[in-house]
Amino acid sequence: MTKIFQIETFSTFQVYNNENVCEKGDFNMQRNNYGRPAGPSGRKRRVKKRRRTIRPRAIVLGVVILIIVAIAIGWKSLSQSSTVEEDQTDQQSVGQSEQSDSSVDEDVQQSEPSADGNAQPSETAVDGAASDSEPDIEVVDGLTYVNGILIANKSYSLPADYNPGVLPEAQSAFDEMAEGAAKDGIKLYIASGFRSYDYQAGLYQRYVERDGAEMADTYSARPGHSEHQTGLAFDLNEISDAFAGTPEAEWLAEHAHEYGFIIRYPADKEDITGYSYEPWHVRYLGKEIAEKVYESGLCLEEYLGIDSVYAD
Ligand SMILES: [Zn+2]
Repeated sequence: MTKIFQIETFSTFQVYNNENVCEKGDFNMQRNNYGRPAGPSGRKRRVKKRRRTIRPRAIVLGVVILIIVAIAIGWKSLSQSSTVEEDQTDQQSVGQSEQSDSSVDEDVQQSEPSADGNAQPSETAVDGAASDSEPDIEVVDGLTYVNGILIANKSYSLPADYNPGVLPEAQSAFDEMAEGAAKDGIKLYIASGFRSYDYQAGLYQRYVERDGAEMADTYSARPGHSEHQTGLAFDLNEISDAFAGTPEAEWLAEHAHEYGFIIRYPADKEDITGYSYEPWHVRYLGKEIAEKVYESGLCLEEYLGIDSVYAD
């Protein structure tokens, strides 16, 4: 019984085992059917496939080498150095020096267009302008506006009958400034505001009689050329050289722009404004433009790109 059982179990094991082998064989055959490399024919296909994939790579590599050589020849023809490597470094250094040169040029060019940009009428009517741009000069009823700013100097005059009085915006700006100054313990007052054409004519005549025309022209405007006739200018506190260096003059120089005023005839600008230093004379421009002129460090003529010279 035990023998029979053993044989039976053995035979069933073998059958099972054979089935197993069979299944493996089928599996291998299936894999062969799907082209997997199991026999000699599979290996041949594999080699052929490898050759097919290598050839395109070789072509691409060749093209890349050709491009590199072409670029190298191109560089060599541009610069006369001996090796490709030197060519590259030379080219880079030349490029860099050109860049640095051109960046300087660009800085100059950039500053010019930006100045031109400021000079565009639409913008300058609000902003004023920068110094080295073409000023936009407009004459309306005998009044000259440069980039939207009313100008009265030795080059540009006002009509004899222009009598606006002190303009309200200038007056209120002064009041605000006087208030601000008072908080700092500085007392500001208007010594001379609006002056009519006729009043200025008499004033100038007296100075000419006293000092001569040449001298008078350095500190007093001819009638029609005084900024006081615009109604936008004030002489503050003491109209004399003694005002320079006082706490009031220093406060004014430091803070006037915050209230829309500029020191109209600064020191060291006599040749441009046409007038000697007047630390007491302020001109109302509005806060925005006054701030810009102040920050520029330029006098108004420089800032607008105009001159101040009598025609005769
Ligand atoms: Zn004045």
